[in-house]
Amino acid sequence: MTHQTPDNSRRRFIKLTAIGLVAAPFANALLSGTAKAADMVSETDPQASALGYKADATKAEKRTDATAHCANCGLYTGKEGEASGPCAIFQGKLVAANGWCTAWVKKAA
Ligand code: SF4
Repeated sequence: MTHQTPDNSRRRFIKLTAIGLVAAPFANALLSGTAKAADMVSETDPQASALGYKADATKAEKRTDATAHCANCGLYTGKEGEASGPCAIFQGKLVAANGWCTAWVKKAA
């Protein structure tokens, strides 16, 4: 028989709450199958628009580095070779691997 002191119960509650908070953002992706089921960021999304995001980097007027695109951005976590992937800025949505926005930072080698 296990006996939990109020301290142990509280610790367990806090631990479970923390796990729940960490897991919550992934629940949608898990329920819909994979992260690929996530929506693409729209260029007209207010945040995307503010950052000048374009799904086709060649159409981004503010881009000065012709080699810069989402796939080689430090904030992009998509798999190499895939057409889209997650970006740290646009939580829960995918950006085009060939996209670009003003938050672009060179991916560390
Ligand atoms: S932060 Fe990087 S990966 Fe995200 S949209 Fe901008 S250029 Fe693409």
